[in-house]
Amino acid sequence: MTDEAKPDERAAKTLLGAHWIAGERSRSASGEAFHGVDPRSGARLDPAYHDAGAPELERAVTAAASVASSFSVARGRRAELLEALAVELAALGDVLLDRCERETALPRERLAAERDQAARQLRMFAGVVRDGGYLDARIDHGDPSRTPAPRPDVRRMLQPLGPVAVFGASSFPLAFSVLGGDTASALAAGCPVIFKGHPAHPGTAELTARAVASAIDKVGVEPGVFSLLHGRGHELGARLVQHPRVRAVSFTGSLSGGRALFDLAAARPEPIPVFAEMGSVNPVFVLPGAMRARSAEIATRLGQAVSLGVGQYCTNPGLVFVVGEEGLEEFTAALARTLSQQPVGIMLHERVWIDYIQRVALHRQLAGITMIAGGPAVPYPTTGSCSVKPVGLLTDLETFDSAPRLLEEVFGPVTVVIKCPDLATLERIAAGLPGQLTSTIHAEPEEVEGAAGLARALSDRSGRVLFNGVPTDVEVCHAMQHGGPYPATTDARATSIGTAAIARFLRPVCYQDFPPALLPVELRDENPGGLARVVDGRRTGAA
Ligand code: NAP
Repeated sequence: MTDEAKPDERAAKTLLGAHWIAGERSRSASGEAFHGVDPRSGARLDPAYHDAGAPELERAVTAAASVASSFSVARGRRAELLEALAVELAALGDVLLDRCERETALPRERLAAERDQAARQLRMFAGVVRDGGYLDARIDHGDPSRTPAPRPDVRRMLQPLGPVAVFGASSFPLAFSVLGGDTASALAAGCPVIFKGHPAHPGTAELTARAVASAIDKVGVEPGVFSLLHGRGHELGARLVQHPRVRAVSFTGSLSGGRALFDLAAARPEPIPVFAEMGSVNPVFVLPGAMRARSAEIATRLGQAVSLGVGQYCTNPGLVFVVGEEGLEEFTAALARTLSQQPVGIMLHERVWIDYIQRVALHRQLAGITMIAGGPAVPYPTTGSCSVKPVGLLTDLETFDSAPRLLEEVFGPVTVVIKCPDLATLERIAAGLPGQLTSTIHAEPEEVEGAAGLARALSDRSGRVLFNGVPTDVEVCHAMQHGGPYPATTDARATSIGTAAIARFLRPVCYQDFPPALLPVELRDENPGGLARVVDGRRTGAA
C-alpha cells in the first residue's frame, strides 16, 4: 500500500524533542530535560527531551483505552498497518541510521540489518494476523436433545488484553525499541501500545514514532493505538505500569529493571502480566571429543560471538565449560587470539560501561582466575568515551563452585572458561543453573548419545538449546523461542522474538449459547475467511 513513501531527508532537522501522543507531537517542557549522548565522545546531542508528566501519561493511556475495543476486532486493518509500518520504517532511510549511530555507536551495517529485521518482523506479523490461526478458535456445537442434560453450544477464541506498556532495551535501538518485536506483536494481537522511550536513544525513538504516525495516518487506523513517551529515571515507567487502564507490560533490559516493574505490577490492586526479558550468561558446554577434534575452531567462533556488538547481546556466551586437558591449550590460544584481534569497541552508554568495568574487575579479583586476553583493567572513572577491549578469563571448577557471582550476567564483551573434569560434572552444573535464554552443547557425532542427560538438564533450565552453534545466532521465525525460566525472564511461557510472541497479549474468552449476531465473526458458523478452527474436535477450515 504505502510503497510510494520516500526517504525523508528533513526528518533529522525536524527532531523536536517531542513525545508522540495519539498521532500528535507533544512538547512538554515541564519535566526534567535530558539529551541523547554520543558514547564515542560524550558529546550532548540536540534536541533536549523532557520527561513526560502526569498529563501526557494520562492522554496517552486514555487514547489507547478508548480505541482498544475497535482496534481489537479490526484484523484486516491491523495487517495493513503492520505492512505500512515496515514501509515507513524503511523510508526513514539514512536519517534514521545516522541518528541511531550517533546515539549508540553501533556500526552502521549492524543497524541497517537490525532495521531490516524489524521490517521483516512486521511483515511476518501481518501474515500471522491475516491467517488468523493464532486466535485458536474452537467450536463445540450444542445438542439440545442430549440426555440427561442438553449440551450447551460452546465457542472459544483468544482476544487482546488491551493497552500494553512497552519498554525497549538500549542494546537494540531498532529491533527492541519503538518498532521492535514487542510493539509489532502487541499491535498484531490487537493491543494499543504506549511505548516508554529508552533515554539512551531518544532521537532514534522520535524518528521511528514519526514513521508510526505516518503509517497510522495512511492506513486510517485510530491514532490512539500508539504513543511514545520519553522519560529518564524510573518515575515515568513506574507510573505507566501502575496505571489502572494499562493491561500488560512488556520489557527488554536489565534484571533489576524488569524485576522492579514486575513487582510494581504484582502490587497493583488489579495485578497485570509483565513479560520481562532480562539477563542471561548463556553457558556453552564443550564435550571432550569436540575439544580433541576442533577446539581452536570452537574457540574462534565463540570469541567472535563474545565480541559481536561489543558484547552487548543478551545471548552473549558468558561462560564456557570445557572437559579435559586435551585441546585446552589450543582452545585458550585461539580464544585469546580472536579476542585480542578485535578493535577497541564503544559501549552503548556510560551506565552499561561502568557496570561492565566494575563487574569484570570483581571477576578478576577472584583467586583462581587468570586472564587470557584483554590487557590491564580499563582506567576508571571515565576517560571521556565508553571504550573497551574484549576480555577472556580462565578458571577451574573449584573457583567456579565457590563464586556464585560468576553465574550473574556481565553485559559486555567478556567470557569465562571453566575447566571441568568430566561429563558428569557438566550435568551437575547444568541442573543447578539459574534460568537461561540459551544453552549450547558442542559435541562430536560419537558423543551425541552420551549427551542426552546434559541436553535434558539444559532444556529444563533454558528457553533455547543449541547444538554446535553460537547463541548469538537468533533467527526471527515462527519456531523461535527467546525467553526462559527466571531470571532470564519473568514468564518462562513467553517468547519476545518470533511470531509466537503474539500469544503474550491475548487471553481466551468462551461464549456459551451466544446468538450468532453477538459472536465474534471468527466464531460464527459461516467462517467466511476459511479460518482454521477446531470444530467438534476436528481441525477444519470449512464453514
Ligand atoms: P535497563 O536499564 O533495564 O532499561 C530498560 C528500560 O527500562 C529503560 O527505558 C529504563 O528507563 C527502564 N527502567 C529500568 N529500570 C527501571 C525501574 N526500576 N523502574 C522503571 N523503569 C525502569 O536496560 P538497558 O540499559 O536497556 O540494557 C542493558 C540490559 O538489558 C542488560 O542487562 C542486557 O542483558 C539486557 N538485555 C536483555 C535482552 C533480552 O532479550 N533479554 C536484550 C537486550 C538487552 P529509565 O532508566 O529511564 O527508567
